[in-house]
Amino acid sequence: MHYRQKHLLAIEGLHPPEIGQLLDLAENYVLLNRSGKTQRDLLRGRTLINLFFEDSTRTRTSFELAGKRLGADVLNMSVSTSSVNKGETLLDTAATLNAMHCDLLVVRHGQSGAPNLLAQKVDAAVINAGDGTHEHPTQALLDALTIRRRKGRLEGLTVAICGDVAHSRVARSNIHLLNTMGSRVRVIGPPTLIPAEVAELGVEVFHDMAAGLAEADIVMMLRLQRERMTRGLVPSAREYFRFFGLDAEKFALARPDALVMHPGPMNRGVEIDSAVADDPERSLIREQVEMGVAVRMAVLDTLARSGRNA
Ligand code: ASP
Repeated sequence: MHYRQKHLLAIEGLHPPEIGQLLDLAENYVLLNRSGKTQRDLLRGRTLINLFFEDSTRTRTSFELAGKRLGADVLNMSVSTSSVNKGETLLDTAATLNAMHCDLLVVRHGQSGAPNLLAQKVDAAVINAGDGTHEHPTQALLDALTIRRRKGRLEGLTVAICGDVAHSRVARSNIHLLNTMGSRVRVIGPPTLIPAEVAELGVEVFHDMAAGLAEADIVMMLRLQRERMTRGLVPSAREYFRFFGLDAEKFALARPDALVMHPGPMNRGVEIDSAVADDPERSLIREQVEMGVAVRMAVLDTLARSGRNA
């Protein structure tokens, strides 16, 4: 057992054996899920609460399925972000959850660091399901699993992460994971959407798709997160697509066997063209969703075990 932490709050700081262990275990869950079987004894009697302060369809559903397939009692709590002072609400919620004796707490919050704060206040194992622009660790794990299954490895690959890096917790978690596992990471986007500090994370920065996509094994497109933009950072969706949207022509600049990914939800015609997104040979987007459930089962299983061993 390499992963001995109580929580999963970020990819930053994890070591290759910890990541490797989670991915290996997730591989087993892919097979279990494909066989149509479940493993309901594993988390029987345990309570998992999905606490979502921000909207989500796939992540919440994915954690719900993962918990249920392992036998946990799953509760979904959606909390309106408009409720008074967020700090106070969060601590009140923590007290409530402790009183309910929840074992596993999956948290999504609009503010970076909210899951860390909750982890200090609750007895449950906390899993970050996306916090502000900080991290979305299970997304990076499911992306890594998807890549590893297709390419057979993570080390030595060139991965281009394209688009709205500034607002993307997915980009941050992926950069940490891919760097840790030995891939070469590039980010591509307009200067307004690539914060200067990203270069400090050990990535190559490009502002031109043609240059950035050359030699890429994996092209990871990001959603343009207009809801997080406080000012106009992009001219128009059409203009953005022209320069940074992935269509067949731009995709052809990557390696001939390059594969495309997107964490969802997609803005078709803005950051990605449907012909690329739906390409059965070269798009991994559906597979990412399947891997999501397996990775989350692996995370729940691992955290429940470290809790038992503690
Ligand atoms: N679903 C991902 C997230 O929650 C990506 C996105 O929203 O664009 O960060």
